[in-house]
Amino acid sequence: MSDEMRLFNTLTGRVEPFAPERPPEVRMYVCGPTVYNRAHLGNFRTFVATDVLRRALEFRGHSVCEVMNLTDVEDRIIRFAADASTDLEGYTRKWIDAFHADMAMLRMERPEHFPKATDHIGEMIDLISRLIERGHTYTADGSVYFRISTQPSYGQLSRLDVSGIRAGARVDTDRYDKEDARDFVLWKLKADEPSWAQWDAPFGKGRPGWHIECSAMAMKYLGETFDLHCGGVDLVFPHHENEIAQSEGGTGHPFVRTWVHVEHLLVEGETMSKSKGNFFTIPDLVDKGHRPDAIRYLLASVHYRKQLNFTFEGLAHATAALERIHSLVRRLDEASGDGPVGEADAACGQALSRFGAALGDDLNVSEALAAVHGLVGEANALMATNRISRAGAERVRQTLASMDSVFAVFFPEDRSALTPDEQALFDERQAARVGRDFVRADSARARLDALGIVLEDTPKGTRWRRRG
Ligand SMILES: [Zn+2]
Repeated sequence: MSDEMRLFNTLTGRVEPFAPERPPEVRMYVCGPTVYNRAHLGNFRTFVATDVLRRALEFRGHSVCEVMNLTDVEDRIIRFAADASTDLEGYTRKWIDAFHADMAMLRMERPEHFPKATDHIGEMIDLISRLIERGHTYTADGSVYFRISTQPSYGQLSRLDVSGIRAGARVDTDRYDKEDARDFVLWKLKADEPSWAQWDAPFGKGRPGWHIECSAMAMKYLGETFDLHCGGVDLVFPHHENEIAQSEGGTGHPFVRTWVHVEHLLVEGETMSKSKGNFFTIPDLVDKGHRPDAIRYLLASVHYRKQLNFTFEGLAHATAALERIHSLVRRLDEASGDGPVGEADAACGQALSRFGAALGDDLNVSEALAAVHGLVGEANALMATNRISRAGAERVRQTLASMDSVFAVFFPEDRSALTPDEQALFDERQAARVGRDFVRADSARARLDALGIVLEDTPKGTRWRRRG
């Protein structure tokens, strides 16, 4: 597509042309989940929005190399793993599996790289060593801190008056011997932590802080300067501000060219919390009888810079909107009219160009969906008056398929076959059973179950059915 994509860049505070450094490839990083529990609806508001962004870039002719990290070492994980008498891997494995299952249910494209923090301790140690060499750090009680006063540009992303955060003020929940409240930990030593949560480093035993993991893994897979960094709006300060400080402090180069932040999700107008009874995971909603494709549609249908108020009324509207599209898709096969292909052709061409222009306009999803529903309305009218031929209907189907490469919900699920991901899990379980690896077999079964696939082992082999 010749016209440029425009995005709101938090760094400049403006909607501006988005142009990757090495077109057509876009190198993109998304701050992923902390894997100590099941990710909730608010988390998936961000992840579905960034999935729509990556698909919109692909729709507009880019290739995407996306990295999403998994934070598998931090205070809560260490505590929960110790309470469960296991270690980091033992505790986080099921939550990583659950995250993948939820991603599949919400039809998210898989990022090209899914690095775990604990697999990249060496990269983090290297980056901290560079920061030590370049004079950006100090050590207190065995922990290494980044000294913010060495990075005069600190605060450029959040535009906070960080000078107002005085030494001694508390800006995070960790207590350390910091010289300045803004300083943050790169490498933590907590003497009372289990040995499986500590690593040797030239500057002493310990474990990485949260911020350093994103910088180290992003630069490993995407280079010292890359195109696009995304996350929830709550990460702007301090997490992303700290990522910039330590990355640019370590390399001397700009870290990220465009920062995209996704607004919060509310449920029925209120902040989601367990105490209010409005806290939901994706399986919670599916268990209540809601369809994953409708959940995705609702999450994808609000502009990423607007708060998304998730309501059950809204979910019912989303389900009805999808049903209207699915109903047309099912009936397109029956088209047998004798109208000229030109009528359907013109409607498709107009809808597609409106759709592409809307996505290019800072990801205007409402306008893009209006183009989809406009086309569905026109096709319905042609069907109703028997003016659409088989060729015209095929053209409508292809146009919807092209638009669906972004939204991934317009076609009714083929319930007669397993998806490739489901088939892979099914095959993995069969292989594990043959090899008498029942732990692996049970894990594959549990992952299929989370996807709504129920297995039944019979004398004639394993059968599956889709729940609901
Ligand atoms: Zn991050």
